[in-house]
Amino acid sequence: MTVNQKLLIAAGRNPQCTPHRHPMPHHINRPTKNCKACGRPFQWRKKWKGVWEDVIYCSERCRKNKK
Ligand SMILES: [Zn+2]
Repeated sequence: MTVNQKLLIAAGRNPQCTPHRHPMPHHINRPTKNCKACGRPFQWRKKWKGVWEDVIYCSERCRKNKK
């Protein structure tokens, strides 16, 4: 066993397991909308859970910039 492998095990990682396989990003299926103020698309956020239907601005700044 190499010193490097020992260090990986000490850090709780399996040295046989290379980190090449990433799981699908969990946010990939989140809905998006276009901001009413800046027109840019923005993505669902956890803080909008339950009020997503009413969200029309991407950020607090855009909400204040509304005309
Ligand atoms: Zn915006």
